Amino acid sequence: VPMSTPLPADVRIRVRNLTKRYRTPRGDVLALNNVSMTVNAGEKLVLLGPSGCGKTTLLRCVAGLEQPDEGEIEINGTVVFSSDRGILVPPEKRGVSMVFQSYALWPHMTVFDNVAFPLTNARVPKSDIRDRVRAALAMVGCAAFENRFPGQLSGGQQQRIALARAIVSNSGVILFDEPLSNVDAKVREQLRIELVSMQKKLGFSALYVTHDQTEATAVAHRIAVMNTGSVAQIGSPYEIYERPDSRYVADFVGATNEFPGTVVGRKDGLLLVDTVIGRLASRDAVDVDAGQPVVVLIRPENLHVTAEEEGLNVMGATLESTMFLGLFTEYVALVGDKRVILRSMRQELVREGGAIGIGVHPEHVRVFR
Ligand code: ATP
Repeated sequence: VPMSTPLPADVRIRVRNLTKRYRTPRGDVLALNNVSMTVNAGEKLVLLGPSGCGKTTLLRCVAGLEQPDEGEIEINGTVVFSSDRGILVPPEKRGVSMVFQSYALWPHMTVFDNVAFPLTNARVPKSDIRDRVRAALAMVGCAAFENRFPGQLSGGQQQRIALARAIVSNSGVILFDEPLSNVDAKVREQLRIELVSMQKKLGFSALYVTHDQTEATAVAHRIAVMNTGSVAQIGSPYEIYERPDSRYVADFVGATNEFPGTVVGRKDGLLLVDTVIGRLASRDAVDVDAGQPVVVLIRPENLHVTAEEEGLNVMGATLESTMFLGLFTEYVALVGDKRVILRSMRQELVREGGAIGIGVHPEHVRVFR
């Protein structure tokens, strides 16, 4: 690990070249492989990826609940861990709060005492504790519950209490480990909105773990997509969705049509690819040569039904099925014997079995090696 340079004032968390192996009887598991990232002041950085890709491990390393094998972690300008020097700041002194999927409230303590816990621990004067706990409970809409026990609350309410406990100490950095996974869909959506507005109001920085793409997009300023212990791509939700730089990221965030093809060449600034559904033109600047096998990805919402029968990126097809899904309608079309999925906010006036033209703009045709 290189010598650390001074941390810019607006960076709250920095991990550098973090590697973590778990030792098991059946050999080592490489949970983190040379991971680097920063979380800026007031930023919500979401770690997104499938089960087992190392999200929780990274969060636990930052919290100090797990010790990395290699690398360095800085929080609020202080190196809290480096592989040369070991643990320099223990978990309770790192100035971070954590919110878990399982709420992790003390069942034998009242709501008030649960929320007060970080303050009691830090020996904050009793009168301050009362005011701060009540303010935190009001913030999450649970002022009425201070004398109840966690067992007397719903899952959503318990998670609000856990949120109150995380914000009460004003730590400035909050780590979230799948905080909304245990509550039902309606409550999840509501809590997500409240969490976003609460973060705006309080301005804390967040490192937020989820495997849910919609949640990531809704919550994040930036998303770090992870793949088996490594960072596949970091960017704004828009960049991750519209400009995925690998098939892995494209597949993980949103639906895609995938067509294998062969590069024909370039013409008029467009890359031409012969695919199983015909010749497609792309605006991608990907570095490929004629004859090279590639995979073409097109998102269903970027395909449209057209009255034309031929032209650039227009293909004749047969409508196989139509499914009304509320927000959009999903159409399955057949180009030859290949299925193509389209999503449209409009009701297309085509009956199943009828002929349609489908088209896509070159900027929506993504080509991957
Ligand atoms: P999930 O969404 O399922 O929680 P995750 O992305 O958070 O997944 P981690 O929990 O960080 O992934 O796990 C990363 C890898 O390390 C996985 O292969 C996991 O099986 C392994 N692992 C995690 N904890 C341990 C442990 N205590 N001992 C051995 N292997 C572990």
